[in-house]
Amino acid sequence: MSENRNKATAVAEEGIGSGLHRRTEEALSNPFLRKAVAFTTDKLRSGRLQAMEDFGSWEEWRERGRAIREHTISHLDYYLNQFADNVVRAGGHVHFCQEAGEAVKTFLDIAKKHQTKLVVKGKSMVSEEIHLNQHLAEEGIDAIETDLGEYILQLAKETPSHLIIPAIHKNKEQIADLFTEDSGQPMAPETSTLAQYARQKLRQYFLEAGIGLTGCNFGVAESGSITLVSNEGNGRMVSTVPKVHVVIMGMERLVPTFEDLEVVLNLLARSATGQKLTVYTSILTGPKQPQDLDGPEELHVIVLDNGRSAQLGDPVFQEVLHCIRCAACLNVCPVYRHIGGHSYGSVYSGPIGAVLTPLLKQDMKEAGELAYASSLCGACYEACPVKIPLHDMLVQLRNRKVKLKMTPWAERMAFKTFQTAFGSVKVYRMATKAAYYLQKPFGSNGIIRNGPGPLAGWTQSRFFPMKPKLSFRDKWQTLQQEMKRAQADEKKAAPPAQSPAASKPSSDQTADTGRERS
Ligand code: SF4
Repeated sequence: MSENRNKATAVAEEGIGSGLHRRTEEALSNPFLRKAVAFTTDKLRSGRLQAMEDFGSWEEWRERGRAIREHTISHLDYYLNQFADNVVRAGGHVHFCQEAGEAVKTFLDIAKKHQTKLVVKGKSMVSEEIHLNQHLAEEGIDAIETDLGEYILQLAKETPSHLIIPAIHKNKEQIADLFTEDSGQPMAPETSTLAQYARQKLRQYFLEAGIGLTGCNFGVAESGSITLVSNEGNGRMVSTVPKVHVVIMGMERLVPTFEDLEVVLNLLARSATGQKLTVYTSILTGPKQPQDLDGPEELHVIVLDNGRSAQLGDPVFQEVLHCIRCAACLNVCPVYRHIGGHSYGSVYSGPIGAVLTPLLKQDMKEAGELAYASSLCGACYEACPVKIPLHDMLVQLRNRKVKLKMTPWAERMAFKTFQTAFGSVKVYRMATKAAYYLQKPFGSNGIIRNGPGPLAGWTQSRFFPMKPKLSFRDKWQTLQQEMKRAQADEKKAAPPAQSPAASKPSSDQTADTGRERS
């Protein structure tokens, strides 16, 4: 089954940044999508909050997670070497790949060596990042997604719209329609029926596939182990049934020790789904050994750079490599919750996607536009289990675009005008006076309703109050003058003050006062 991901192709044609507005408009006018995304993200968010409360000392765990990630990424060369040595020692093969094409070629070489025409896949965002399925299809190799969400999307010819719930935008009815079309049999929109169909269909693929491909949630440097977390068990089938297991991982997905693994697994499960631990946590070290009952005969680990090492040493962006892909930032992001994942036009969506995509692609012109898909509210930072300041990074990405003169001409002119007006008191006063008259054709009853040029987008959906004739400063001067006049009038109206002699107490009064005091 060769699948052609139509939406990915569409994004490639129209561009991440150039198509951002169109995709956003499309998502906003789809009430079903907005409801579905809001429903699931609400559930995930409340699950996370409950799990944090039950766990206790969340901030301390968060700080431990941050420290582990910071230490690992700061010494990534050391831990990568240690990890690779241990994978080889355990009987596996390691392939370091600089960019996407190299990783694809490496995989194809392995597939050709084993004459494989069928690959079963566990969930792997890195394989999406390098568009592996399309490359395999071009070589006549079928790649079957076995994560249920990914399998649904493969039938729908769509890309994932969430890091951990790839088909977040689909409901049971839509899935039943897809399965009906695939099977040629009417399929009821019942979870158990649909799951049963997928299970039966996928089982055959597990048995026939020559290669099982998985991602890697964390590689453990001290042992060369691969950690996979999932809730469906397909990861275990993919990594143990086929004769060859290929792992494809980003170079940053390491922890030094099992002690560190315990911390990040605790943070990951709670932040992602509100679970204490995912249903399946598999830790795989090397291929099958003589004493093992099952497992692959060959293990290959493809470690991909693809723009990651360019962030090492960057004082602002190195921290993006701390990410453990829990998706908590997506679930709390007010922008993601309204527009869903496909609007971003990238494999990585939400706040982490808006930062990661331009950095990995090293493309500020198109992918850099994603930096504007944010309200900069900081909710992503509050939710992030390893404290990545995504909102600060988004500001810095915008700064980069400004410095590279990649912002629209109208925006640059607007800021130039703003700078001139606010740089001189005289010009500022003149400009604000002129603004009162210039705004008149665009508004009424104190509200601008049809903003000119780029302001139109703002005024379409928001109130933009008109500038009043008098500014607060103007009014304040008048007010001060009125207050001074009122004080002077009060003084004039008051009776003359008594002379000191007139106010001198009489002897009786003195006596009275004396008595009172005694
Ligand atoms: S940036 Fe933080 S919250 Fe977002 S996916 Fe990564 S670890 Fe999770």
